[in-house]
Amino acid sequence: MTRRDLLGTAGITATARGLAANPADKDVINSFGVYYSRVGPRSWVLVELRTKNGLTGIGDGSANETVPTRCTGVVKEMFEAVRGRSPFEIERLRAASLDKVAAAAPREKRHTVAACSALEQCMWDLQGKWLGVPCHSLFGGKLRDRIRNYANINRATRGENRTPEGFAANARRGVEAGFDAFKLAPFDHMSRIETDPAKHEDGVRRGIGFVEAVRAAIGPNRDLLIDGHSRFDARQAIEVGRRLEPFNLYWMEEMCRAPEDLARFNRATDVQTAGGEMLWSVKEFSAYIRADTVDTVMPDVKYCGGMYELKKIAVIAEGAGLLTSPHGPASPVGNMAAAHVCATMPNFDILELAFGEVHWRADTVRPSEDLQDGYLTVPDRPGIGYEMNSEYWDKYAG
Ligand SMILES: [Mg+2]
Repeated sequence: MTRRDLLGTAGITATARGLAANPADKDVINSFGVYYSRVGPRSWVLVELRTKNGLTGIGDGSANETVPTRCTGVVKEMFEAVRGRSPFEIERLRAASLDKVAAAAPREKRHTVAACSALEQCMWDLQGKWLGVPCHSLFGGKLRDRIRNYANINRATRGENRTPEGFAANARRGVEAGFDAFKLAPFDHMSRIETDPAKHEDGVRRGIGFVEAVRAAIGPNRDLLIDGHSRFDARQAIEVGRRLEPFNLYWMEEMCRAPEDLARFNRATDVQTAGGEMLWSVKEFSAYIRADTVDTVMPDVKYCGGMYELKKIAVIAEGAGLLTSPHGPASPVGNMAAAHVCATMPNFDILELAFGEVHWRADTVRPSEDLQDGYLTVPDRPGIGYEMNSEYWDKYAG
């Protein structure tokens, strides 16, 4: 019996599906698509990779564009790194992605990392489908079946609704939906590092009013997280953090931008600190972790490089004694891609979900998103476990 015969016997399931026994030198990627769905002022963006044998893999590349022009431009260029390749060649795509991001101008970085991360998720979805296993099986296996999400009510609370009553109303909707953890960014109306003492005081008071209203709406026993969106320097963050103590916060996220400010704030507060949502790759997270910036790292599967990079970042965080709570505002595909990896992390804490953006969210994928009491059940279907529901997605390219 030749080696090829042995592979043929071992690969009988795959062969029965009309696929080759050896994925590395048979089924190959041969086309791509980009799809989008308008969600308020931005769009969710899905990238799709297709193989010669008819498999399709999807990934979330949403990066705050209204139409995915710039994301598509990067996908087109990066497609050349995977065209004719096996979906199992993740490290090869990663190497090309690292080069692409290193060469990107600062203003192009976000769309570049999103496109590269989306392609990477597509490859894992394809691998899972080829092997007939869920993605979590490819990352070490599940430690948990359900992933706890917090409801980020910040995007749902827009314009005139950014009042104590508006935030409280969205928090109550989240309570009714069963969530037991909530997040808001209460200082978005402030300038970054406001130097005028009166304006600073005014802005902080207003923000604390939002926090107070949400704490009252969710009661004392649910978790409350705030995101400072880098509005403060270390001195201001320490002062604002002290004023927020009565609200028993679960965490304070990105109160400052500069790593040295974050580190100073981190040392000064007993509350859990979190951040890193815009960082790309294990290399940027490694520097962030070494600088002692936060207790909990927040890699985004759409921005950090994808599912394998998310796992690697969680691993270095584990080594440093830190927790991992992926940043999340995403389509159901992005949240589920992250959830598969979260299910395998010993140091997972909580996943972010943008609550209340659009009422048809769950139906954008098939089967529809299964979110119960704020928990996402990680499916055992092959790959990420979703297909696009074409009623909600417009084709943009490919
Ligand atoms: Mg954030």
